[in-house]
Amino acid sequence: MALYEEQNLRLSNSLSGQKEVFKPIHTGHVGMYVCGPTVYSKVHLGNCRTFISFDLIYRYLLHLGYKVRYVRNITDAGHLEDDADEGEDKISKKARLEKIEPMEVVQRYTTDFHNILRKFNLLPPSIEPTATGHIVEQIEIIKAILSKGYAYEKNGSVYFDVQKFDSDFEYGKLSGRKLEDMIANTRELTAQDEKENPQDFALWKKAEPRHIMRWPSPWGEGFPGWHLECTVMSTKYLGETFDIHGGGMDLKFPHHECEIAQAEARFGHSPVHYWLHANMLTLNGKKMSKSTGNNLLPEEIFEGNNPILSKAYSASVVRFFMMQAHYTSILDLSDEALLAAEKGYHRLMEALEVLESLEVSEKSNLDVTAWKQRCYDAMNDDFNSPILIAQLFEAVKWIHLVREGRKTLSAVDKRLLVSSMNEFVFDVLGIEKPLDAAASDGKVEGLMQLLIQMRDKARADKDYQTSDQIRDTLSELGIQLKDGKEGTSYQF
Ligand code: AMP
Ligand code: ZN
Repeated sequence: MALYEEQNLRLSNSLSGQKEVFKPIHTGHVGMYVCGPTVYSKVHLGNCRTFISFDLIYRYLLHLGYKVRYVRNITDAGHLEDDADEGEDKISKKARLEKIEPMEVVQRYTTDFHNILRKFNLLPPSIEPTATGHIVEQIEIIKAILSKGYAYEKNGSVYFDVQKFDSDFEYGKLSGRKLEDMIANTRELTAQDEKENPQDFALWKKAEPRHIMRWPSPWGEGFPGWHLECTVMSTKYLGETFDIHGGGMDLKFPHHECEIAQAEARFGHSPVHYWLHANMLTLNGKKMSKSTGNNLLPEEIFEGNNPILSKAYSASVVRFFMMQAHYTSILDLSDEALLAAEKGYHRLMEALEVLESLEVSEKSNLDVTAWKQRCYDAMNDDFNSPILIAQLFEAVKWIHLVREGRKTLSAVDKRLLVSSMNEFVFDVLGIEKPLDAAASDGKVEGLMQLLIQMRDKARADKDYQTSDQIRDTLSELGIQLKDGKEGTSYQF
């Protein structure tokens, strides 16, 4: 029996505002789409929090035995500076300012994004599609929405007709807004406005002569509206209706609301069963954000090179800090909070080492099986990682009591405690063991890459004795080499 059949996962659906039992469309399979970054600058720690939150969710679904298709896009076109379809494209602007190609901007910050997420030990998504790779599909869906009468063309741009849509469906159901209130609270249109109503949003924008990122379309040269790419890529890879759609809380309106409208206009029904929203990371009580400058970059934290924190913190400590808060709660970053997280993280890691060396007894007087179910109960309750961590610290207490001879563990229970602790800490929470000082300053990384290259060369030369010796000696030291499509990686 698969684990997901034994565990009763419930999750907070932003669409209903309720915690609901999770029932995927196809038994044993989950389709999950998460809005990815707009790759025009380095990701800050706030962005990372959202992706780390969904990594926890992805990891737990995998742990439960689901086959998950996890799609997380890269926004590399169409995201304008202003949510009301005004201003420059963020990527074009950066390219103009730096005098480089837009695709150089995209490449640079996509690589940065991947490198940072690897440091935080995120699992890569199953598919990472880009907006520019799906222009044809975006044009096709616009044509379909136009033919159904939910959009109109104006001077080479195409806008979604929100009032027409609202008369047949319901606009605002995700964010709890009513179209009448929106109409009452928005400014009048001016003579230059192309939109028939201020709530309408762009599906396609005509490219002005200086706009560099442009594609031919039936309406002339232009580029897609930002909301459209997610509707197109989610439904292309996951189907017209899929299980989970996630993103940061700040994307609920207008981005996700518009996604729902586009999909309903196109397919006639709601695209997503469960909408999940991760809450914001704040700094000094305010949302971390690129535009206001109220943010910290991951590298500033790893290097301790910032005016806010007293020292450097490792990626594992920062991840552990994030896991101590529920993904739907606001989390404030501070030196005190990180110091406390660092202490907790080391206490947990030390306890795991002590656990390995504990002496076993004939009988246990600790109920490890019931404790393990409490860990599952925490995660089954909308991925409640802080409660899971509280349970892990309950086990830490036990480990010390057993070491002091005040409690006992049988061999079977010790094995269960070791495997469960490892599974919850490393597989589910995605926490990594600490690297020593040498590792963190890059020397170990350099040495590991050298050994991997030497092994690759030995294998290419069919010198399997040397290549096996490198792998086996590293394994004896507790370092596992893993060969994958992207090359060889290692794990301590
Ligand atoms: P962007 O690159 O601006 O499209 O943002 C990428 C992701 O980061 C989105 O899902 C946002 O919701 C999320 N995000 C932005 N700021 C924060 C923050 N302060 N805390 C958590 N997530 C954030
Ligand atoms: Zn999106």
